Amino acid sequence: MHEVVIIGSGCAGLTAAIYAARANLKPLVIDGHEQGGQLSLTTHVENYPGFPDGIMGPELIQNMRKQGERFGAEFKAGAVTEVDLRKRPFKIIAGKDTYETKTVIVAAGASARLLGLKGERELIGHGVSTCATCDGYFFRGKPIAVVGGGDSAMEEANFLSRYASEVYLIHRRNEFRASKIMIDRARANEKIDFVTPFVMEEILAPQGHVEGVRLRNPQTKKVRDIVLNGVFVAIGHDPNTTVFKGKLEMDSNGYLIAKHGSLTAIPGVFIAGDVQDHRYRQAVTAAGSGCMAAMDAEKFLEEHKD
Ligand code: NAP
Repeated sequence: MHEVVIIGSGCAGLTAAIYAARANLKPLVIDGHEQGGQLSLTTHVENYPGFPDGIMGPELIQNMRKQGERFGAEFKAGAVTEVDLRKRPFKIIAGKDTYETKTVIVAAGASARLLGLKGERELIGHGVSTCATCDGYFFRGKPIAVVGGGDSAMEEANFLSRYASEVYLIHRRNEFRASKIMIDRARANEKIDFVTPFVMEEILAPQGHVEGVRLRNPQTKKVRDIVLNGVFVAIGHDPNTTVFKGKLEMDSNGYLIAKHGSLTAIPGVFIAGDVQDHRYRQAVTAAGSGCMAAMDAEKFLEEHKD
C-alpha cells in the first residue's frame, strides 16, 4: 500500500515527488509515455528561476529526479493504463502492475501536437519548437514560421515578432479558428506575413538544423519554399487524460478541472501541471502546482489516518 502515487514524471510530477518524499511519504512516481515530460524535449531553458545562464531542459528534469530520489521517491517506467478511483485505496494499473494507494497526484501533462512530418521530432531544439515563450529568444533577428490558425498560433506569432525579423504565419485554410481580436492584432503587425492556404509538406534541414520549409497550396497545388530558421508548431495540445474519462471532471478539451488549488471532486485525488492548465504551461507554474498537490496530499493523509 502506497501513501501517494504520482502519475507523470514532468516538472509537476517531479516537484510533487520532491515535496512528498521530504514529507516521508515515499512517493511512487509512474513515469508515463514521455519520461520527463515536455521539458525533456526542449533545449535551453532560460526562464526557470535560479539558473542565470540557463539550463538544458533534460538536465533540469534529471536534477529534479535525482532530488526526489535523494529523499526516497521511487520511480517506475511505464504508463498508466487504467485507474479505479471509486473507493480508497485507489487502484492504479500500469500494464501488468497494479498499485494500491491512499492518495493519487495526477500530473500526466499534455503533449504538444506535431505535424507528423519526417524528421520533425528530431529537429526539436534544432529549429523546431512547440513553445514560443521558451524558445523565441533564440531566433533574434531571424525569419521564422508559426504553423496553425487558432488563438495559440496568433498569440505565438505576435509574441515571436518581438524577436524574429519576419514571422510567416502558415495555415492550411483561409479561415481561422482564432478569435477576431487575435487575428486583427496579428494582421496589424507588420512583421507577420499570412501565408494561406498552405500545408507544410517538408521541413528543410539538410545540415540537421532548420533552413527552410516547403509548402503546398491545397487548392492550386502550387509549391512554395521559404528560407527561414525556425518553425513553431502551434496546432494545439492534447492533455493526457484518456484514462480519466468519466472518472475525473474535465472540460470540453479534455483538461482536468481543479477545485481550490489541486483538489478534485474525489477526496484523495489531486491534480497538477499541464494536465489541468492550458493557459500558462510553464515549467515554473507546473512545478508550483506540483508542490501544491503534494502539500494537499500530505494534509489529506494527516486528516485521514486510519
Ligand atoms: P485550436 O483552437 O484547436 O487550433 C488549432 C489550429 O491548428 C487550427 O487552426 C487547426 O487547423 C490547426 N491544425 C490542427 N492540426 C493541424 C495539422 N495536423 N496540420 C496543420 N494545422 C493543424 O488550438 P489552440 O490555438 O492551441 O487553442 C486551444 C484553446 O486554447 C482554444 O480554445 C483557444 O481559444 C485557447 N487559447 C486562447 C488564447 C487566448 O485567448 N489568449 C491563447 C491560446 C489558446 P483547422 O482550423 O484547419 O482545423
